[in-house]
Amino acid sequence: MHVARNLSHINQRIASVCQSAGRDISEITLIAVSKTFSITDIQAAYDAGHRHFGESRLQEAQPKIEALPEDIVWHFIGNLQSNKAKKIAQLFPIIHTIDSVSKLKEIAKAGQLVQGFIEVNIANEPQKAGISPDLLDVFSQTVLSYSQVHLIGLMTIGPTVSDPEQSRPYFRQLKDHAYRLGLKKISMGMSQDFDVAIQEGATHVRVGSAIFGSRD
Ligand SMILES: *Cc1c(COP(=O)(O)O)cnc(C)c1O
Repeated sequence: MHVARNLSHINQRIASVCQSAGRDISEITLIAVSKTFSITDIQAAYDAGHRHFGESRLQEAQPKIEALPEDIVWHFIGNLQSNKAKKIAQLFPIIHTIDSVSKLKEIAKAGQLVQGFIEVNIANEPQKAGISPDLLDVFSQTVLSYSQVHLIGLMTIGPTVSDPEQSRPYFRQLKDHAYRLGLKKISMGMSQDFDVAIQEGATHVRVGSAIFGSRD
């Protein structure tokens, strides 16, 4: 387990991509995706100075959130089951996976202001979470009508690809949608393709295995 070393390596890669892409590194939030990893692993990243972590299941995340320092910023990146959305909104200040009105209604019940990303199924893949790009304009208006959710950006999980270059057109499309809608934050890019995502405008990259090791 070399969490601190991996983290430092990823931060260096982000810095060098930003430099070559002419972007300011302060625009990028690295979310360390800690799902399936232990409190000890998260604590190691915390001790190395990291503060943004991503989790995808409420049941797994809750004990971690309760055990770990309060200045961690927790990002919810998993499937928002409607019956858990309210609790999720109470525990996570930032939710990346808003993709339906029913989930939005549940989040609003939490009685807490959350920052939200709309998850977009950018390649219109069947059976994949996220709203179709065709419905995005109408849905973003709906999200904006909820005072409990502060809409900050768009998120996508691109199709699985063998070469990170294949993600580029999808990332570019997501960025174009965000700009068109006047949304400043773009959550895209994972261990395999975060550098391409940053080149295409990502502000939030979600990196798990490259920091914590393989999940298998
Ligand atoms: C697991 C997960 C990640 C991290 O994936 P890695 O390939 O381990 O970097 C990023 N985003 C979401 C939504 C995830 O579920």
